[in-house]
Amino acid sequence: MRNGDQFDVVVIGGGPGGYVAAIKAAQLGMKVACVEQRGSLGGTCLNVGCIPSKALLHSSHEYAKAKDGLLEHGVVVGKVSLALDKLMARKDKVVNELCRGIEGLFKKNKVEYVIGKGQIIAKDRVKVTAKGQGERTLSARNIIIATGSEVAQIPGVTIDEKRIVSSTGALSLQEVPKKMVVIGGGYIGLELGQVWSNLGAEVTVVEFADRLVPAMDQDICNEVKKLLEQDGIKFKLSTKLLSAKANSKDVKIEVEDIVSGKKEAMTADVMLVCVGRRPYTSDLGLESVGVKLDERGRIPVGANFATSASNIYAIGDVAPGPMLAHKAEEEGVAVAEIIAGQHPHVNYDTIPGVVYTHPEVASVGKTEQELKSAGIEYRVGKFPFLANSRAKATGQATGFVKLLVNASTDQLLGAHIIGPHAGELIAELVLAMEYKASAEDIARTCHAHPGFSEAVKEAALAAYFKPIHM
Ligand SMILES: Cc1cc2nc3c(=O)[nH]c(=O)nc-3n(C[C@H](O)[C@H](O)[C@H](O)COP(=O)(O)OP(=O)(O)OC[C@H]3O[C@@H](n4cnc5c(N)ncnc54)[C@H](O)[C@@H]3O)c2cc1C
Repeated sequence: MRNGDQFDVVVIGGGPGGYVAAIKAAQLGMKVACVEQRGSLGGTCLNVGCIPSKALLHSSHEYAKAKDGLLEHGVVVGKVSLALDKLMARKDKVVNELCRGIEGLFKKNKVEYVIGKGQIIAKDRVKVTAKGQGERTLSARNIIIATGSEVAQIPGVTIDEKRIVSSTGALSLQEVPKKMVVIGGGYIGLELGQVWSNLGAEVTVVEFADRLVPAMDQDICNEVKKLLEQDGIKFKLSTKLLSAKANSKDVKIEVEDIVSGKKEAMTADVMLVCVGRRPYTSDLGLESVGVKLDERGRIPVGANFATSASNIYAIGDVAPGPMLAHKAEEEGVAVAEIIAGQHPHVNYDTIPGVVYTHPEVASVGKTEQELKSAGIEYRVGKFPFLANSRAKATGQATGFVKLLVNASTDQLLGAHIIGPHAGELIAELVLAMEYKASAEDIARTCHAHPGFSEAVKEAALAAYFKPIHM
């Protein structure tokens, strides 16, 4: 084996878990290779996930605003039309620039980027196969598996990425469908549903559960449904998909109300399947080193991300926990530090979740339902954006901040926001939870005026005593 093929750490997968782990390990003085088969770094997140979906959400919102939303600000716009090709080209440019940016970070930090499919062939060996370039075997003192996840399919439904599409297909449709049916009311379904609704599609979301984004606080679920309905999206909750067949013109869909048993036929130009993601471990060679999967196909890990095979670690979507880019990144940093002999800790109780719809939805910590079922005494502090001066001034006065605090200690246990910039406002509350802050701590912290964050302060005031502006 060539000297150049010997590494302290070989990372398989160049997504937010893998590339962050690779950079951190290199910063800590290790010789690192990162193997990626996609031909582009950044993983699902940058290529077909977080970034293209947010680029489309933003552009589609700008379009909807130009069409209907500027007159109240006294801005009169002439005839507005859509150039979908330009909108998509912008999204592609954003994605390409960010992906290439990671290549630059690899160069800067001296991480070797190895293009190809990685397979573990021994506890300290990774074979890399690249089309047309043969094989290369890397020796590794430590292997980090960061192979991420892939789209979950519905048995009997064929995703052709034209009429029946996954999230990946929905990021690159060539024309705006007249009618779109979205199967799955989780965050990806809502975000992509809103993109195409903003661009003019008639969107119906079909969800098996009796609420949207089921893991979120019930008040937030109700509010997000109300606000998205006002925006023109239709919902069929407690409804299951029975069948979907695509032909050259459309998709014939049959659904069933699981409460009444009533069946209904629907037709859509495009059906989007958003029923979750599953860990990706295909042909990784796990059996050869004795790494087993759990019942959900994930790689189980201990507190230090170690798999059942020594010196082999797993992080990100392929390991248990929420399938979120920032969770993968936290684990990427922590696993590199662990390999370097440090003692980091990822606090899974303070991982925020954000839905980047308009308005945004964000939460961290416990929901009211979780506190009730755990028998924890709590107080609620709620403040509407309607009473927030910045939200009023900018015409974004919808939604609220809801804080849940321990009834006896006043410690913040959960924070749930729906409204303008919720995804940014939540950061203050994540920090507050990390430092075990009380509602009074937040309320006595000076917040700039006029700011959306004053709604957070007021909710904290409401939780420990009384709000001023309501
Ligand atoms: C439409 C959409 C929107 C999303 N929006 C958000 C969001 O707003 N916020 C958020 O936090 N999360 C979001 N996510 C989820 C987020 O993308 C994932 O949680 C995140 O990418 C997981 O990172 P990862 O590094 O674990 O895996 P991935 O990003 O999936 O990266 C894994 C990489 O490993 C490569 N790979 C796999 N096997 C091999 C192999 N054998 N050899 C070489 N390479 C291999 C893959 O090609 C892939 O590039 C979204 C996902 C989707 C689909």
